[in-house]
Amino acid sequence: MAVSELELIRRCFERRPLRPDVALGVGDDAALLRPGEGLLAAAADALTEGVHFPPGTAPEAVGHKALAVNLSDLAAMGAEPAWALLALGLPGPELAWTEGFARGFLALARSWSVELVGGDTTRSPVRTAAVTVLGRVPDGQVLRRDGARPGDLVCVTGTLGDAALALRLLREGTALHPWLRARLERPVPRLAEGRALRGLAGACIDLSDGLVADLGRVLEASAGAAGTPLAARIELRRLPASSAFREAAAALEGSRCWALQAAGGDDYELCFTLPAGRLTEARRRLEPLGTPVTALGTVEATQAEEAGVHLLDPEGHPWRPPAPGYDAFSGPGGEEGPEPKGP
Ligand code: ADP
Ligand code: MG
Repeated sequence: MAVSELELIRRCFERRPLRPDVALGVGDDAALLRPGEGLLAAAADALTEGVHFPPGTAPEAVGHKALAVNLSDLAAMGAEPAWALLALGLPGPELAWTEGFARGFLALARSWSVELVGGDTTRSPVRTAAVTVLGRVPDGQVLRRDGARPGDLVCVTGTLGDAALALRLLREGTALHPWLRARLERPVPRLAEGRALRGLAGACIDLSDGLVADLGRVLEASAGAAGTPLAARIELRRLPASSAFREAAAALEGSRCWALQAAGGDDYELCFTLPAGRLTEARRRLEPLGTPVTALGTVEATQAEEAGVHLLDPEGHPWRPPAPGYDAFSGPGGEEGPEPKGP
């Protein structure tokens, strides 16, 4: 069914107001928001078909994930989300696809009291969804990347590698456990966990590109304030795996599992640091949320040449994944190394 741009926006994205701090939502040239107290946290992340999700992915899943990956960024700051903007690129006025997308997007938005207050709809050769989220965090309670210190533990919520394994199985055309598919297509942003870690975690980041890449960013960001280059020693045997991952990965070599878990990406778990004596408190706060916390290793002061993430196998030998993590221009990490260079 052919619809105009305006009709598409009306039918898919105009909803009754949700939040009292929205003075004006979808419909005018700009939204008007009441920012209120504290700091405003802002983040943007875009999904492109064929790059971030395979063509043929259910539109509900794309809508869900487009918002979820953004909320995950706010979670990592300890922020509470309030508003979202959506710039959608479509090859044509695809009403059915856009309705599906809007269902996935708006259901997740509603569940966190996030109001879609504006955006843009344009024609684009491939489907793209660029989302901006805004939220609030009390001044002085923000979780940032630069708070890791020597002696801290490195911890992670939930399990690692599920989404990367799901993507691999999808590409092979292998049947997929529903839990693994959900971890790939419908990540749950760790918003409640991020808030619970306020005032407790020294540094925090959400794992989108994989543990090695993202923890590396924490170490780099923290080195200045710590006054020393930083290294993290991570024990591979500690990487938390779901039972669905273990079952589906049973046929893989151990090292391929590590690669998926340490560098596969798309986990949307929180990785955070804190003094060892506070691990019990972190577990106590996250347990009521049903979220396990796993300590993976420690942060250490080191020499510049040794800075970064060191993975240790069960014998204590250093181990490196074939590709360090997802990169916008070279693609997924984990098992797939970079393209082999010339002859
Ligand atoms: P303008 O041309 O003034 O930018 P548009 O015609 O692009 O306005 O959009 C009309 C209204 O619909 C605006 O309030 C805009 O924020 C909103 N809007 C457009 N596309 C979307 C979308 N994909 N999701 C949410 N709101 C949208
Ligand atoms: Mg516009």
